[in-house]
This record gives sequence, structure tokens and C-alpha cells, in this order.
Amino acid sequence: MLANEVREKLIAIVTKANFDDSKTERLVYSYDATPNFQSMPDAVVSPRNTAEVAEILKICNQHQVPIVPRGSGTNLCAGTCPTEGGIVLLFKQMNRILEIDEENLTVTVQPGVITLDMIHAVEALGLFYPPDPSSMKISTIGGNINENSGGLRGLKYGVTRDYVMALEVVLPNGDVIRTGGKLAKDVAGYDLTRLFVGSEGTLGVITEATLKLIPMPETKKTMLALYQDLNAAAKSVSAIIANKIIPTTLEFLDQPTLKVVEEFAQIGLPTDVQAVLLIEQDGPAEVVERDLTSMAEICKQEQAVSIQIAASEVEAEALRTARRAALSAIARLKPTTILEDATVPRSEIAKMVQTINEIAEKYQLEICTFGHAGDGNLHPTCATDARNHEEMERVEQAFAEIFEKAIDLGGTITGEHGVGAMKAPYLEWKLKAEGIAAMKAIKLAFDPHNIMNPGKVFAKDSKKRVVITR
Ligand SMILES: Cc1cc2nc3c(=O)[nH]c(=O)nc-3n(C[C@H](O)[C@H](O)[C@H](O)COP(=O)(O)OP(=O)(O)OC[C@H]3O[C@@H](n4cnc5c(N)ncnc54)[C@H](O)[C@@H]3O)c2cc1C
Repeated sequence: MLANEVREKLIAIVTKANFDDSKTERLVYSYDATPNFQSMPDAVVSPRNTAEVAEILKICNQHQVPIVPRGSGTNLCAGTCPTEGGIVLLFKQMNRILEIDEENLTVTVQPGVITLDMIHAVEALGLFYPPDPSSMKISTIGGNINENSGGLRGLKYGVTRDYVMALEVVLPNGDVIRTGGKLAKDVAGYDLTRLFVGSEGTLGVITEATLKLIPMPETKKTMLALYQDLNAAAKSVSAIIANKIIPTTLEFLDQPTLKVVEEFAQIGLPTDVQAVLLIEQDGPAEVVERDLTSMAEICKQEQAVSIQIAASEVEAEALRTARRAALSAIARLKPTTILEDATVPRSEIAKMVQTINEIAEKYQLEICTFGHAGDGNLHPTCATDARNHEEMERVEQAFAEIFEKAIDLGGTITGEHGVGAMKAPYLEWKLKAEGIAAMKAIKLAFDPHNIMNPGKVFAKDSKKRVVITR
């Protein structure tokens, strides 16, 4: 419960209409897209501008009230679950596109803008914002920046981090700072913009962002390569890159994923093959044509059983949409869906996929694997039931082994979904104690009272590494 004094002060800042501590509202914001995490906030507060955010942070800092900034709550790492209570800060009223600057090729937005709305707005002017998380119909730019989200176009165009040029940030003490600018070159001091990207709401509140745009590619083409052998699909990924072709999209779906996605989307995806690569290239027409021909050739050499080129943009969009629906499709199978994003160097994809299948067999679990093969970013996903405690234990052990294998192969515990509360116990496996200590020093410098999204990124206790017997 908030102290009455704090409650009154917050209402004075945002007005009664934008403060809600009813049980219903607190329940609504007690969880996010991550299964198995729930915790009640004390209140939900919706500021209307940066000045209000600054006042709220000052009050919370003074009274040491936790703040959980929240976009659409679609994160998959319990990043917006109010594990230590406090207030949830919503940006539903700070959701405007402030400017599209065609001379500097930038767009400036408030944090609550829905990603796809912004993409549509810039595309209407022939401009392109490449980061396209599958959740973009509902995710916000504030959330994308704080998770450093990626998407299907990440292989060629990079992730959110690569497009953030400038930020307005409110620090926990209420100070408002501006980082970066509309500048191609700027080395004045530490790169605070990059520090805030991916900081998961633990360092400050982003109240404005200027993002880089690029001209819209002239054309794009999409194809599917079908395989009866997982290894052959994985080898094709390495071979395409080794042949110095960087496609826009190079996505992998295994057979269990194909089956559930086809059942869901019903667009005629092949379900009698072991794996599929969804490959896309964009750019000038002649380059797209040349790259597609070369990639088809490479896939055939690597034992693809068939290559299918989308006949129209409608067909291509159906394929992309089906891939983006993979999580939703799997989520229909059972009450609980655990999706992970273990990431390895792309040369290790084949080994990683094989290991995931062995682990699934060892723990008698059904794990569907899909993901951004070109980035080495896989999403092993387990449909399960949180009420079955014995099975949940096996799920946890299986994923711990998957993380361990990813790290052993030179990879990481998360490629794009963030650490949040869910992966915090595993972070030390990746960073070692010294890495965690360095990050904690940064956190302490910005947020000495630990009010910003406490309980995220840093765990009270790290998990012990399991020993892999294979
Ligand atoms: C079906 C589905 C598909 C998905 N596909 C992808 C995908 O392809 N790629 C990918 O990378 N992720 C994906 N995700 C994960 C998720 O959608 C992304 O992490 C997304 O960026 C979260 O946006 P959001 O607005 O929901 O943020 P939230 O979940 O609300 O918040 C995410 C983090 O940002 C912080 N935050 C939010 N706004 C601010 C702010 N203004 N200032 C400071 N901190 C803030 C929060 O505290 C939290 O730590 C998917 C999720 C789902 C459910």
C-alpha cells in the first residue's frame, strides 16, 4: 500500500483521472506476457508529459517507492511484473508521433507509440524503420528500446539499438537529460543513448526518442526452402552467409512448429518436412533477383528438397504473418507457453538445434523450435501446464541445460527478450561475477535507492550451473 502522503502527492501531479489503485486495475497490471509471474502493484499512474514524469520520480525517489515503467506488457521476461510492488507507470497518454524529419531521416516519438503505427506513418512517406518485432501490432517504442528488440529483418538491418539516435530520459532523482541528437557523428562524452537502450526500465524513464529512418527498399522477394534434415537447413544458413549474401530475413521453423502454425494460419505451409527456412531479400530489383537465385542454388546444394518462391506480395505477407504468429499458434496447445531465446553464433545453429531436441527427449517434453536463424537467435518453445508441478520442474531443468549449452557454444541466455526477473538468476552464467559487479555499479550511480524496476536484471541468488552429461 502506498502511504497516504505519497498517494495524495501523486494524485496532485496527474489528477484523479490518471491515478488508479482499485483492486481491478492493480490486478490487470499485476502480470505481463510472461507465464508464472504475478505480483500486485500498489497503484497505476498515467502521466501526460515529461514534467509529470519528473515530478512522479522525485516523489518516488524521496519515499523509495518502486516504479515499473510499462508499455504494452508484451515482454517475455517478467520485465513489467511489479515483483516488489510500487507504481506501474503507463504511457498510454504519451503516445504521439512528434515529428518525421525527411531531411535528417529521423522520426521523433513519445514512448507509448505503438510500433506498427509508427512504421505505417513513416512508410506513407516512402521511409523505412526496419526493427519489426513480431509483437509490433501491440508493442510500444518505449518497450522496444528498453528490451532492444529485434525482428525478422534483424539479420540485414540490425535491432532497435541500431536506430536509436537520441533520447530524453528522466532520471530517478527527477533530472531530465537529453542524449545524442540528429547527428551522424557525435562523440561528446560517454554514449548514454546506448546505455539506456536495453536497460529494461532499471536506469530511468524514457520520455522521448529520436529514431533513424532509411529509404524504403525498391523491391523485395520471399522464398521457402524445405528440408527433410534439420542439419541441412542449419548448414544452408551458414553457407548463404559464407557466400557473402546477407538476406533481409533468414528464419527457421522446425516440423512441430510448422504443424501448429499451419493449423493456426491455414496458408498451405508444408508440414511433411523436417524444417523450413523462410528467406527474404530486398533492394534494387536486379540485386534481389540475383541473390534469390544464388540462395536457391545454395539451399539445393545443401539438400533442400524443394524451393518455393512467393508468387505475389500477398503470398509473401501471408508467410511472414504465419512466422510472426508462431508463438500465438503454439500458445493454443496448452495452458502455459514458455518461450526462450537462447542465441548462438550462427555457425553453431545446427549443433544448438540438435541439442535442444536431445534435451526435449531427455526431459520428455514437447519443444517447438523456430527463430531468427540468420542471427543465431532461436526460440525453443515449450507448451506445458503450470499446474503440473512435476512437469514444470522438468521444463525448468531443460531450459537451464539449453542456456548452458548456448553459453558453451559462445552464445547467450537472451538474444532479444531481455533478462527481467525471469532470466536474472542465469545472468551470472553469461557475465561472470565481475560483469555483474560492473553493471551493479552503473545501476547504483543512476539509481542509488533502487526505485527503478527493482528485482529485474539482478537476481538475489544466481542459479548454480548444471553439468551437461552429453
Ligand atoms: C507474441 C509475441 C511476439 C514477440 N515477438 C518479439 C520479437 O519478434 N522480437 C522481440 O525482440 N521481442 C518480441 N516479443 C517480446 C516483446 O514484445 C518485446 O520485448 C517488446 O519490445 C515489448 O514492448 P512493450 O511495449 O510490450 O514493453 P513492455 O513489455 O511493457 O516493457 C518492456 C520493458 O521496457 C520497460 N519500459 C517500457 N517503457 C519504458 C519507458 N518509457 N521507459 C523506461 N522503461 C520502459 C519496462 O519496464 C520493461 O522492462 C514478443 C512478445 C510476444 C507476446
